[in-house]
This record gives sequence, C-alpha cells and structure tokens, in this order.
Amino acid sequence: MIKQTAGRDGLGDLAPKFAQLNDDVLFGQVWSREDRLSLRDRSMITVVALVSKGITDNSLKYHIQNAKNHGVTKTEMVEIITHIAFYVGWPHAWAVFPMVREVYAQDAVNAKEPLFGLGQPNDAYAAYFIGQSYLNPLTTQGVAVCNVTFEPRCRNNWHIHHGGGQILLCTDGEGWYQQWGQSARSLHPGDVVYIPPEVKHWHGAAEDWFSHVAIEIPAPDASNEWLEPVSDEEYNMLTQLQTEE
Ligand code: MN
Repeated sequence: MIKQTAGRDGLGDLAPKFAQLNDDVLFGQVWSREDRLSLRDRSMITVVALVSKGITDNSLKYHIQNAKNHGVTKTEMVEIITHIAFYVGWPHAWAVFPMVREVYAQDAVNAKEPLFGLGQPNDAYAAYFIGQSYLNPLTTQGVAVCNVTFEPRCRNNWHIHHGGGQILLCTDGEGWYQQWGQSARSLHPGDVVYIPPEVKHWHGAAEDWFSHVAIEIPAPDASNEWLEPVSDEEYNMLTQLQTEE
C-alpha cells in the first residue's frame, strides 16, 4: 500500500474530497495493485500519459522522479520520450527533456566518489538490479575483486553464489544485506559481510548512496544464480521498520 499525502498536503484545505480521492483512491487503491501491474510499469505509463496531454508541471516531474525511483534508467526514459514523440507530438517531447535532464542529473551531483572509484554504469548486470549501479573492477587476477556502487534505493535481485560465496567490505554510505528468511542487516563503512555459498541473499543501498568491495571467493565451479527482484513492498518495509526503531 502506497502512502500518498500529496493531495492533502497541496489541496486538503481547498478541495478536501479531491485530495482524499487522490491520496486514498488513485494512489491507495489503484497504484497499489502491484500484483496486477508493477510500480515500474505504472510509473512509465503515467509519464507517457502526462506527456501526451502536454502537461509539463510539477506533476510530470514527480512522475519522472517516481519512475527513476522504481528503476527506470536515464537511457530508458530518454528512449521512452523519443519513441512516443512520433505519437504524441514532437513539441511535447521537446518540452519534457529538460525535466528528464534535471531529474537524472541530481544523481551525478549526489554521487560522491567512493573510496575505490565509481567505475562505469553496470550495464552488463542491469537486468539483475533495481536502480542504477556502477562497477569498478579492481583485480581480475587470482581473486576477482570489484567495487560496486549503488545509487539510493538501488539493490540487486535475490541471488545465490554457488561454490565459493562472497565477502563484502563496506566503504561508503549506507546499505542493506539480507539473507532469505532472516531480517535485514544495516551496513556502514567498515562493516564486513561473509556470504556463504548456496545462501539466497541480496545487497544494496539504503536511502543514501552505498559502495562495497565485493570479493568472489574462488571455487572450481563457482557461479552466480540470479533470482527474483526485491520488491518495493519488501524494500520499503525495511525503511519503515528502521524508522520505528
Ligand atoms: Mn552477493
């Protein structure tokens, strides 16, 4: 269930019924039907609908940001606008690009250079991540060691390291590590995580940027098995629990 207060915050005094319908029905009952359509898909569709209508106010910016929060990359957003330009009208597409630039530029500004370097966008494994991650290979000889940086709320899918397991050395920001069936562990610079082989788990950022060095423990038949994403519902629960603590 999404908790939305934009209607009440902006219009509660002037149009309380409209505010209630916006927060409780549109967001509370329609957006929340994630079993029917994911938040990522809903956010993309909403951006397309607003651009089609020629709406370029704060509501569009909110929904571009929302799409970004649900894993739509800058490359994908630019492609969406380019694609729909032919259908919704060229000027509508022109009008939205500055907003896309603004929403996605905030990342680059907020990204502090991690201790072991940001590296490049992790395009090769993007399918197994929600949000944008960056990979900086540190050694490939002997033991494979690389630095992984996650933008805020970015996390990898549930996965299993077969054979060798993995060690994480946390260097920057704030993150999460969770083993299947256990509560998540909050991570900070200096924390070390040993992930045994054959254990289903995920790791990623909290509300801040997060970097860890990942050491792949060598084994004769080591391999990674990628599983389902960590849903927004699961992920938001962590933040809620942390706030209540
Ligand atoms: Mn792992």
